[in-house]
Amino acid sequence: MVSGPSGVGKDTLIKMLLKTTDGIYRSISATTRSPRPGEVDGSDYYFLSKEQFEQDILGGKFLEYAQYGPNYYGTPQEAVETRCLTGEDVLLEIEVQGAQEIKRKLPHAILVFLLPPSIEELERRLRNRGTDSEERILDRLSIAKKEIELVRLYDYKVVNSDINKAADELRCIVQAERLRVVN
Ligand code: 5GP
Repeated sequence: MVSGPSGVGKDTLIKMLLKTTDGIYRSISATTRSPRPGEVDGSDYYFLSKEQFEQDILGGKFLEYAQYGPNYYGTPQEAVETRCLTGEDVLLEIEVQGAQEIKRKLPHAILVFLLPPSIEELERRLRNRGTDSEERILDRLSIAKKEIELVRLYDYKVVNSDINKAADELRCIVQAERLRVVN
């Protein structure tokens, strides 16, 4: 699982990891937030209405779900279970509550936290991205400050000040974990 505040560069780092490392299935989450420009339904997320999402919660379709800001986000259970059974590594990009929930259900899961070099840099990146309103940027920054305090619950942390170095470190974590002796 990879967590980190909004704007830290999770998507870019995950794309770099998947390009250079075989045998990883990236889980596609469901969300009730609207697609950002360029995001594709069924590829970046499954974009659902609030009603559909709540119906899926009741139907037991999520391995975990959480509210983040005004929206729901959830991990579809079936796709993850199927991949785990076939021995593939599954990568979830997920916020901290959801990550803790998965760790409780699947204790062998590995948690990696991506950190920005500083809060000021994170704010600059969120503003440069230009996809959120001022209110959402402030909301994301306030969530980020709380999330960063929870890094102690994670197995690894990677600081994204240099994107290539951070991508290398993420790759190293995957390689090291694949070499682990499981008792
Ligand atoms: P964004 O709106 O920036 O795509 O995502 C907001 C937050 O939701 C990020 O921290 C992201 O990691 C998290 N997130 C994405 N998918 C899931 C999910 O399936 N479950 C949970 N709990 N969080 C998710």
